[in-house]
Amino acid sequence: MDRNNRILEYYYSEEFTRLKSTCDSLMSSQKEFNEYIDEKVKSISGLFGTNIVREDTVIEDEYNYIHPYKKSLTPFTAEVSASVFASAENYPLDYVVKQFYSNKALYPEQIQKLQLLVEELETLREAKQIIENQKTEIQQYLSEVPDFIIENDEDGFYSRLGFATINEKSLVVAYKFSYTSNAGYAQRSFIVPMTEETIVELIQKLEDKLTFSAFAKEQRLLMTSKLRQEIKERDNFTCQACGNSISKEPNLLLEIDHKVPVSKGGLTVKNNLQTLCWRCNRSKGSKLI
Ligand SMILES: [Zn+2]
Repeated sequence: MDRNNRILEYYYSEEFTRLKSTCDSLMSSQKEFNEYIDEKVKSISGLFGTNIVREDTVIEDEYNYIHPYKKSLTPFTAEVSASVFASAENYPLDYVVKQFYSNKALYPEQIQKLQLLVEELETLREAKQIIENQKTEIQQYLSEVPDFIIENDEDGFYSRLGFATINEKSLVVAYKFSYTSNAGYAQRSFIVPMTEETIVELIQKLEDKLTFSAFAKEQRLLMTSKLRQEIKERDNFTCQACGNSISKEPNLLLEIDHKVPVSKGGLTVKNNLQTLCWRCNRSKGSKLI
């Protein structure tokens, strides 16, 4: 409580107001980027229904929180028998498929979502580095910022200055297996976190079960980081729409775009993929809606 008040007092001070206006003018060109990334983070965490739970705070202000993202919850939990639990420990992904992907009719849509998740996690990792670079650029203006602000509210501080917050925890999809003994005395559980590698493995397992789309499956590549890198190299790290490149703008976020979108039947094949900068990708995205 006391600590929160101290933090807020700083944000309401003239000192911080001055700093914020200095940063606003410095960051005018980066602001739109940070907004774009914030939107992306929200839409990805919404894709799988992972919830971000804010730390309770009694103080109401514009931001309504001190620590923006405290913990995340994933609603995917399976209560299973002792024998299933033991098998799931040995073959976690097979049991994720059994427990959480039991309806084959939904696979195409689910595969599409998982595919999008892998791609966006990669993009966000690159965006995170760019945001770190932007933060480095303004460090010289931050020498007067009290230590206790950075120690206690680093994310909140930067988010007030207009930086996007990428909290990986809120983006991780995880599947939980839980077993409770008859008497209810013993409870055991474990979590299968979906890293990029495990998501790719999961997609492959789901596709293997979809025999009817064998043709599309053969044609399709998986959007691995290797493939993304290949497309960027092929396109010379240059946006295929506006011609901007990382040699012109070192902190430019490049994304891989499906020329014909996956939702319209576009495949993940090299001639349907192109490099776009985030600005062009953003305006393409809004045109499609
Ligand atoms: Zn562009």
